[in-house]
Amino acid sequence: MPSSKDSELPQVDPRWYQDGLRFDCTACGNCCRDHGEYTYVYVSDADLTKLSAELRISEDEFDSVHCDHEDGWRFLKRSGSQCVFLDEKGLCKVYEARPKQCSTWPFWKDNLVSLDVWSGPVKKCCPGINEGELTSADDAERIARETEDWYEGE
Ligand code: SF4
Ligand code: SF4
Repeated sequence: MPSSKDSELPQVDPRWYQDGLRFDCTACGNCCRDHGEYTYVYVSDADLTKLSAELRISEDEFDSVHCDHEDGWRFLKRSGSQCVFLDEKGLCKVYEARPKQCSTWPFWKDNLVSLDVWSGPVKKCCPGINEGELTSADDAERIARETEDWYEGE
């Protein structure tokens, strides 16, 4: 039986991604650079705990050194036009502790709305879209739901 959460996800009948979605990260680092609406990397309290532990500093120090705040949201500082944790090789310096928003990309609710969005602006940002490993429709929705719950928990 569908849970109440199911109604919060994009419901297309039949789901355009019923047969699953392919995604394979090429480690290009593009999603960690500025590109319009995908610029901000939000940091939840849980993310803050993980990130500060990874860098072996206090949460307060991580917050003041690596984060900015706007409208009640906390997000990672930028270094020029990219995330402060993107290294010179295009890799994440805090990969194991990266924020939920980073670890659940590209299976976000807004990205699953339509094939046009998935294969359009999302693919344009992320060359790993439609490549490599197949993620089932159920798993894609589970990850999208996790991401929504993470936002709502803030
Ligand atoms: S843009 Fe896509 S392929 Fe490139 S690093 Fe990000 S997730 Fe990986
Ligand atoms: S935390 Fe890591 S994965 Fe997330 S945007 Fe920054 S460099 Fe990229």
